[in-house]
Amino acid sequence: MGRCLVTGAAGFLGFHLCQQLLSEGHVVVGLDNFMSGSHINRDDLLKNKAFSFFERDVLDCARGTAGFQELVEAGPRFDEIYHLACPASPPVYQRDPLNTLAVCYEGTRNFLDLAQATGARILIASTSEIYGDPIEHPQSEAYRGNVNTMGPRACYDEGKRVSETLGYLYASKGVVVRTVRIFNTYGPRMSPGDGRVVTNFVMQAIRGEALTIYGDGSQTRSFCFFSDTIDGLIAVARSDCADPINIGSQEEFTVGELADMVIDVCGRPLSKVYAAIPEDDPVRRRPDTSRALEKLGWQPRVGIREGLQKMYHYMAATSGTYEKRGVTP
Ligand code: NAD
Ligand code: UDP
Repeated sequence: MGRCLVTGAAGFLGFHLCQQLLSEGHVVVGLDNFMSGSHINRDDLLKNKAFSFFERDVLDCARGTAGFQELVEAGPRFDEIYHLACPASPPVYQRDPLNTLAVCYEGTRNFLDLAQATGARILIASTSEIYGDPIEHPQSEAYRGNVNTMGPRACYDEGKRVSETLGYLYASKGVVVRTVRIFNTYGPRMSPGDGRVVTNFVMQAIRGEALTIYGDGSQTRSFCFFSDTIDGLIAVARSDCADPINIGSQEEFTVGELADMVIDVCGRPLSKVYAAIPEDDPVRRRPDTSRALEKLGWQPRVGIREGLQKMYHYMAATSGTYEKRGVTP
């Protein structure tokens, strides 16, 4: 069995990825600075003896530093590096935009250097945000996007675009780099206060509050359940395909429809309130996942209602714990 390093291991996707890799029998080293991740996730992973953890900022892992050397020696050689560390929720990544940009550039470069130094293959977690507010619909990997370089989302969108460019440059130097463009993913273990739409709606429903719709709710997204996304991430990491691959759901809903589905799952009559639409909020988003199907045989299996039910019941059962432990941002 192999040795894997996962950055962003205390976060939503990082936690589930570590769980999946551990269940496959791998030795997993996690790294996180808890910027948006949770100690609960870290503590639950540490229950498995094959998991170890570095509390560290990816910015403190530059080649030539003690932080970098310690990771080289933590190997003895990593087979796979999954580079996920980065704030992902708009209100969180916009809180310190220069940090977000640095994490995407310097942080990604540090782990590409580590992959080069240790001979590991590396997966870069990119995003549908590299397509910006897309003009083409659905978005295939060939589409080059419509990103505003000077708006509130630019630190993340442009940051992730430069992460992809770094991957391309290191691949040309012989590093095995894989790039996954993740579309909106949801599920248990999202931080209940992270501000993303599914967490907001589910937590509002649990508290019996009105659901907050930004704009008129006609903007669309395609929501993928975490287990499908994690399968996709691992398949991309291990594939022969050096080109970026979209991973996401084919089911496209308006935000208004999502609110109605959450209200339905919660089984209580809740109202909806409308607030201003954030600047540069993409109007429509749905991935073309034909490349994932063709190259990996991957397609999502969990439908939105089943996924929302699982998330709702998990959050209802654990939100008290999260609040008691003080991890709600
Ligand atoms: P998350 O916020 O739950 O997890 C991100 C993790 O990275 C957190 O644990 C956070 O503490 C950690 N982190 C942030 N900055 C760090 C730093 N400087 N050093 C070390 N650790 C740091 O978000 P997520 O949804 O799990 O996203 C994981 C990755 O997937 C991100 O790269 C994100 O851009 C990408 N992604 C996620 C989605 C989604 O819908 N969930 C969609 C597209 C892309
Ligand atoms: N949104 C909403 N209410 C909320 C949070 C978000 O209507 O409480 C909207 C947001 O404006 C966007 C969509 O839901 O149109 C998805 O937002 P999220 O922050 O989850 O992800 P992203 O915009 O990055 O896709």
